[in-house]
Parts: sequence; C-alpha cells; structure tokens
Amino acid sequence: MANPPQWALDFTEKATLYYNELTGKDYRTPTIQWKKSKNEVTTGSAFTDKNLVIVRYGTYLHKFSKHKISLRVNHKLTLAHEIAHCFSPTHHHDSIFWRIAWDLYKWAKIPMWYAKWNEGWYKKKSLVVLKQMKAEAKSRKE
Ligand SMILES: [Zn+2]
Repeated sequence: MANPPQWALDFTEKATLYYNELTGKDYRTPTIQWKKSKNEVTTGSAFTDKNLVIVRYGTYLHKFSKHKISLRVNHKLTLAHEIAHCFSPTHHHDSIFWRIAWDLYKWAKIPMWYAKWNEGWYKKKSLVVLKQMKAEAKSRKE
C-alpha cells in the first residue's frame, strides 16, 4: 500500500473544513488509504463507521475523457465521492448523498461535464444491477 499523495491528504482536509463551514457540522477529516487498482480503473470505498476512505487509483482514462482531463481529476473525483459518503453515513446514494457529492465536486472545480458523465454511468450501472436483482427474485418465485 502506497502512502496517499500529499495533494490527496490536503484535499481531504480542506474538503472537511469546507463542508463543516458550509453546514455548521463537525465532521472529522477522513483517513485515506491509497492503493494501486488491480485493473486500470480507479475505484473507491468508504467505511463510514471508521471514517475511512480507500482509493484504488487507476491509470486508465476512458476514450471520451482522456484528451480533456487528467488522471489527477479522475482520482480527485473518486476521492470526493468517497468523502461525501463519510459526510452522509446514513444516506447511501440517495438525494442527500448526491447533494453533498455535487457540492464537493463544484468546490473542487471538477469539470461538471466530466462529473456528470462519470456519475451518470455509475447510476446507470446501479440500475442494471437492480434490474438483475428483480429478475432473480422473479425467477425464484417461479
Ligand atoms: Zn458511492
């Protein structure tokens, strides 16, 4: 496991200050673990009970984005998404969570077209899973 880069530590600390100031809340700065992705795509996890974020950083940028954004922005978006989970421990991908996430993306100056594109794909993916689960539940009844 690599040490998190300094920019990621600074980003997390500043994001926490920003969010606490915005909302009058008192969240602690999440701890970050920084690992290389097993494939090339950046993914993240948040363990809100431990106030812990894991970023598995990738080296791959989708064709659509590779000429316009850097890997840093790609990693930053994932980090911001996971930090938003730590700031909404009881709201998993609901409208409260997304409000916090979009606030953080704007604050971090992540290009909105990129955030929308990335998160839109993510939500579509979750809908595919939901559809599969419904089909599985149906086939168990039959
Ligand atoms: Zn998430």
